[in-house]
Parts: sequence; C-alpha cells; structure tokens
Amino acid sequence: MRTIIEPFRIKVVEPIRMTTREERLALLREAGYNVFLLRSEDVLLDLLTDSGTSAMSAEQWAGMMRGDESYAGSPSYYRFEEAVHEVFGFEHVIPTHQGRAAERILFETLCGPGDLVPSNTHFDTTRANVEAVGARAVDLLIPEGLRPSEVHPFKGNLDVERLEALIRQEGVDRIPLVMLTLTNNSGGGQPVSMANVKAVSEVCRRHGIPLYIDACRFAENAYLIRLREEGYADRPVREIAREIFSHADGCTMSAKKDGLANIGGFVATRDAELAQRQRNLLILTEGFPTYGGLAGRDLEAIAIGLREVLEEDYLEYRLASVRYLGEAIAAGGVPIVQPPGGHAIYIDAAAFLPHISPLELPGQALVAELYLEGGIRGVEVGTVMFGRRDPDTGEEHPAPMELVRLALPRRVYTQSHVDYLVEAILAFAERREQVGGFRFTYQAPVLRHFTARFEPMYEPA
Ligand SMILES: *Cc1c(COP(=O)(O)O)cnc(C)c1O
Repeated sequence: MRTIIEPFRIKVVEPIRMTTREERLALLREAGYNVFLLRSEDVLLDLLTDSGTSAMSAEQWAGMMRGDESYAGSPSYYRFEEAVHEVFGFEHVIPTHQGRAAERILFETLCGPGDLVPSNTHFDTTRANVEAVGARAVDLLIPEGLRPSEVHPFKGNLDVERLEALIRQEGVDRIPLVMLTLTNNSGGGQPVSMANVKAVSEVCRRHGIPLYIDACRFAENAYLIRLREEGYADRPVREIAREIFSHADGCTMSAKKDGLANIGGFVATRDAELAQRQRNLLILTEGFPTYGGLAGRDLEAIAIGLREVLEEDYLEYRLASVRYLGEAIAAGGVPIVQPPGGHAIYIDAAAFLPHISPLELPGQALVAELYLEGGIRGVEVGTVMFGRRDPDTGEEHPAPMELVRLALPRRVYTQSHVDYLVEAILAFAERREQVGGFRFTYQAPVLRHFTARFEPMYEPA
C-alpha cells in the first residue's frame, strides 16, 4: 500500500510547540495530573476530542464571508436548509447551537416521565437530555460491542431481539422513539450496518414507533458500510448516507463532528406538526427558526461542510489514517478496541497496564504518561469518567471498561504527526511496567473527570 496522503494542501498554518519532558512534568503536576486542566498551548498533539476541532476549508472560509446576519429569512439559512435536504432528505430542519440543544428539543417534544428511549448506546449528553424530561435511556448494544478485543465489522449494532422483547414487555405506549447512534461514540466509535438500520426501522414501523438517528458521524459510518458491508463496495457514499436516513423519521446532529464546522447542530424530521412544536421551543431558548442560536456565517460553514465530508478522497484518507494508527500500535503489542473505528483509537488500558487495578485508575496513568512521553493529550474513558463513588460510604465502583481515547480532529494533523504518535506510544510501551496507579485528591460530585485532581502512587520520571 502507498503512503497515506492528505487530500488537501495547507494554506494557513498554526504553530504547535514542543516542550521538554521536564517542562511537561512540571505542567502536569500543576494541573493535578488532569489533562483537562492543561493549557492547550502546552500540548503538542491534542487528541482530547474530534468535536469542534476540524480545520475548515478555503470554501468554508469563503462561505463565512458570505454569511448573511439577517435576523429572519437569511440566505445563509436557506443554503443550510438546502444542504440538509440534499444530504439527509428530511423535510423540516431546525438549526441549533450544538447537538445537545437538538437533543433537548427532540426529547422535550416527544417524551415524558416514565417513558423509555432505547438506543444502541446513548451518548452522555443524549442520556442526560432523556433523563432531564423524566424518561429512561436504555442501551441495547449487541454483546460483541462490549468486548474490546473481539473483531466484528459492526460493533455499534443494536440488538434487535432485545428491542422486540423490550417493546413486548413495556408496551408501545411507553416508547415514544428509538434512537440509533452512528457511529457509536461511547462504544469505541464503532459503526452500525445498513442491515441493522433496516432491521431496527422495520421493528419501529411495525409498532408505529418513530426512529431517530444521532447522526454526528454519519459520513464515517456510511464509509465504513462501504468498506465492510456486502453490496456497498461500489456505491457512492452520498447514496449510502441517503439510504441510511431513508429508513429514519428524523435525526439530531452535532455539526462539530461530521459537519466539519467549529460549532452548530440541528434537529430534522419528516413530521410537520412536530417540527412546528419544536420551532416554538427553539424560539424560547435558541432563537428565531432561521438562525437557531447560530450566526449566519456558521450556517454557511455547516452547509459547505456537510457536502465536503462526503467527498470520497477525504473519507478514504480519514479512515485509512485512523486505521493506520490503530494497526501500527496494535502490531507493537498495544491492546486496542478492535477493529479501529471511525474517529478515534481506543487503547484498552486495563489490558495494557494489567499490574494497575481498576480502582488505581490505569487509564488515568496512561493519559498522564502519554503527555509526559510526547506532549500527547488523550482522554480517559474508564473509572475516572464512568466509575462511581458511593456518596454515603465513599466506596469507589469501577467502570466496565478502562479505555483511553485518542480522537483525531478532522483535516488537522498530517501523516507524520500520526507516525510520531505511533513512535511515542510504542516508546511508552517499552517502560510501561515502571508506572503505577493514581488516586484522587479532589473530585466533584458529578462529571468529576473535568475538574478532578490526582496524585501518582509512583514517582513519574
Ligand atoms: C458530540 C455528540 C453529541 C452532542 O453534541 P454537542 O454538539 O457536543 O452538543 C451527541 N451525540 C454524539 C454521538 C456525540 O458525539
């Protein structure tokens, strides 16, 4: 295979700063060993998230200048609306400032106390918005999706039999909608197959339950269908995306992911009456329906980004680059969630650092050490993020998996950055037995990972 090249030239550059290991140790200590508390200037390769961190194209920047800031009826809105129609095929679209605002509007208009919302896996903002209206978020991922080392082409699939059983047990009236998250961000960035979208849609239709798609990474999912599912190898990825949405009643979207924009989102639907109620809610907190909490220039950037993200050369490079990173470190003995997914590589820290028990936070140790090793910032997705401390006894309960996510921002880093990343991770692998665990010195009662402080139970060198 030939070298993976970026299908773009670079017109604007942003310097990133090398630091010495000594500097990084001092900075990390000052941040209480929590990389969320580092300044981004002190990070060389920032893989904390792929959300809102995409590089925009020359066309998108040109669109920003064309942005029309009229309060009502701006041409930028109509260009945005047309792009959503073209890519997703939904009739009614409501712009929002982020994906979570779209979620709040969707669940407030469809759900109430006592309802259940099944999904393959709800993303954390989705779960929080379901729970905020008194409903319960139910994850029905196929069992393969929870086994990191198991190879399966579509580990994001929803377990259709469990969905049918849930509907039988709880009754159609308690299930106002079903969600599918494409790709499954909380489950290793794993895709959902077209066959699964169709099967879930068929069950929903039979029971008269609407199906909504959390579409944040729809283009990456569509391209993974093309690479992995029979019958799609020669289909244009735009058509694959349209086919996915043809099976759904609507979607929520964070344009900070596959919108290739730095902010924005929307909710879309085929249901005119629902859209009307959603617009009324939008006006209350987001803004008039032709801007919905965004500037006209943001709508332009999203309209262009939604089309660019489906360009075949871009998607080929994007997925090859993620796969290259995963395969290179796996070949060097680093256990990862298999197979590599769409936007990130997840290292299985429990398997990589088996001498550190879950309550000694192996993922946190790995995140700290990757920063010390190479100025790399990843994120712990394990006991720090999803573990629980009993408020009465203070007893800690570990999370089901100890992962570290390395999310690749879109169009930002080059192949040589990825090579550097591989070298740094493999250099750390050589000395991994020398590192120990971490303990909390401070934690907030909720969402503790953002502000927690830690101390190492060994001497980081
Ligand atoms: C990011 C994300 C959201 C929420 O979007 P925001 O723009 O961050 O509010 C919802 N679902 C998934 C799968 C996401 O990755």
